[in-house]
Amino acid sequence: MQNNVAIIGGGIAGLTSAAILASNGVNVTLYEANPYLGGRARGLTWKGTTLDNGQHIILGAYHQTLSLLSKLGIHEEEVLLRIPLQIHMQDVYSLHANSLLPAPFHLLYGILLAKGLSLKERLSAILFMHRLQKIDYQLDQDITLLSLLKKQNQPSRLIKTLWEPICLAALNTPPYLASAQVFLNVLKDSFSKAKNDSDMLLPKVDLTKMISEPLALMIKNNGGKIHIKSAIKSISRIENGFCLATENTTGSLYQFIVIATSPHKTNELLAGLAGTESIQAMINKLRFQPIYTAYFQFEKDVNLPQAMIGYSSGYCQWSFDRGTICGQHGLIAVVISAEGKHQEISHESLAKAVLEELQAHHPNLGEPQWTKIIAEKRATFACSPRLARPDAITMIPNLYLAGDYTQGKYPATIEGAVQSGVECAHYILKSR
Ligand SMILES: Cc1cc2nc3c(=O)[nH]c(=O)nc-3n(C[C@H](O)[C@H](O)[C@H](O)COP(=O)(O)OP(=O)(O)OC[C@H]3O[C@@H](n4cnc5c(N)ncnc54)[C@H](O)[C@@H]3O)c2cc1C
Repeated sequence: MQNNVAIIGGGIAGLTSAAILASNGVNVTLYEANPYLGGRARGLTWKGTTLDNGQHIILGAYHQTLSLLSKLGIHEEEVLLRIPLQIHMQDVYSLHANSLLPAPFHLLYGILLAKGLSLKERLSAILFMHRLQKIDYQLDQDITLLSLLKKQNQPSRLIKTLWEPICLAALNTPPYLASAQVFLNVLKDSFSKAKNDSDMLLPKVDLTKMISEPLALMIKNNGGKIHIKSAIKSISRIENGFCLATENTTGSLYQFIVIATSPHKTNELLAGLAGTESIQAMINKLRFQPIYTAYFQFEKDVNLPQAMIGYSSGYCQWSFDRGTICGQHGLIAVVISAEGKHQEISHESLAKAVLEELQAHHPNLGEPQWTKIIAEKRATFACSPRLARPDAITMIPNLYLAGDYTQGKYPATIEGAVQSGVECAHYILKSR
């Protein structure tokens, strides 16, 4: 048994941990409950078309994710479309970061020249960014983003059309609930360091192909094992290790364990382990936010004027032209982040309402051949101020937690999941 590591959960965090450990010569076994890997970031097939469970955006500042892809031998340009920072809010404004200036001037210049924002709005945004720079994006005390924006005299139209869409896209939490400090962490990393940190990277292939399959390949090529359809039902402590039980097996023994499941599943697994009560209490306090993605397949020659367009009213928040992004011509994805009225109506009514909004904004779309709504009800934890998040290291020796919800400076993101996976792997490598 000795020196074996079990990873529970085949999402990005678990796969990352397992791949790093396996490539360092550790004997790793990964258990995934579902028949597929990838967790909340995965591809699926609908009517013969490959979709993602939700349109994802990666930021240029997500260095660990990009470096992981490179370690996997993946050339960024093969799997990601990199777009320099630009925001097109339909019928409101458009903003392009300057391609010649260094950060943060590239953004400030973009705001200054934004078409559709009043002079007062542009100056308010620039002054706000300047003040953030002066305090190194660090608040004395965390408050909600909305409170911070109001304190900083941000005009309400600017809050609605600039800060709210960025907050929803980055934190999946509405500004009245969102942690201002975590929002500033993302702003700092994206806007204040290198210019291309603010680039937006959109997957050109489905997420399973982009990241889960290469990670799984690295695990297997280095002798690791992956068991899908293998939900761990219980963990018990034994001398110098742990005993894991699935529905079909009663006792696989491991020296180290990484629980890389989503928070509520983590609590189910911790329930039988004395000494983890404070972690369970922390997890019990987490609240969750949904993300809905509506896909519309139009005629192949249909496209939108931009790869990504924001909307400041109605159900639609962002639309993505999958023809421009990944060659899926005529396929439009609409993302609705966080809680809202869309949760109160049926998927059919929502699809109809979103389609009407899209057609009103873009009259040449025509009628879709098919529509698919994917609702991820617990897409991410609600990223609220002063949220206590569990550490990777637990009170139980050799038992670690990985996942986008564990302690870190980022909201629930692919980067957060990768960072936590890397962290757990390094702890285990060190303690061996
Ligand atoms: C619709 C949507 C859109 C998103 N958009 C973005 C975005 O634009 N940018 C971004 O960076 N992030 C985005 N995210 C967030 C990102 O996808 C997540 O932060 C990340 O995938 C979380 O990975 P994880 O490994 O921490 O957890 P998970 O993906 O939840 O992985 C946990 C895994 O554990 C498995 N599991 C659970 N219980 C057991 C058990 N008992 N035994 C074995 N296995 C078990 C689960 O099946 C799952 O595969 C989005 C998420 C969603 C849902």
